[in-house]
Amino acid sequence: MNLSVIADEVRSCTRCPLHQERQRAVPGEGSTRARIMLIGEAPGKQEDMQGRPFVGRSGKILDNALQIAGLKREDLFITSVVKCRPPHNRLPRKSEVETCVAAHLQRQINVIQPDVICLLGGVSAKALLGESNLSRIRGRLIQRDRLYFPTYHPAAAGRNPAWCTAFEADLMQLRNLTTGA
Ligand code: SF4
Repeated sequence: MNLSVIADEVRSCTRCPLHQERQRAVPGEGSTRARIMLIGEAPGKQEDMQGRPFVGRSGKILDNALQIAGLKREDLFITSVVKCRPPHNRLPRKSEVETCVAAHLQRQINVIQPDVICLLGGVSAKALLGESNLSRIRGRLIQRDRLYFPTYHPAAAGRNPAWCTAFEADLMQLRNLTTGA
């Protein structure tokens, strides 16, 4: 199994109702040898149109924070817990998350074997850690089956200057954790 096979399966996937209104599924992109995976919530409007993760307004906030932290997109693997845009950007349902994680995300993680998975926002923290209270675990390295590092979703950071500052500091901490700086 490799990432391009999984990506092809994502693009033709009809396992959950989210396929019905998508323009393009968004499998994720980045390095097959990424030491850090970033996992967001779901594609938005721009992502749905382009088939690429974090290319809209949230993507600009993420790119800015990555630049401040000295992290490059091409060295990471960036994806989301569901690969198809929920109608009107509603939250993905529990059944949709569980279906997509089992069908695609877990296999991507198994192929990449990252050192750390950075969870962007409450939906991915809930999906991967079963944790409903993001503020309780944000900005901390958490050991489970592998290492996880939860932080804000870039969209949330864009709505709150204090969260944006914390988000940028979290990504800096993530860079330092993974480089030993
Ligand atoms: Fe398939 Fe995931 Fe899209 Fe649902 S969200 S149709 S499981 S790729």
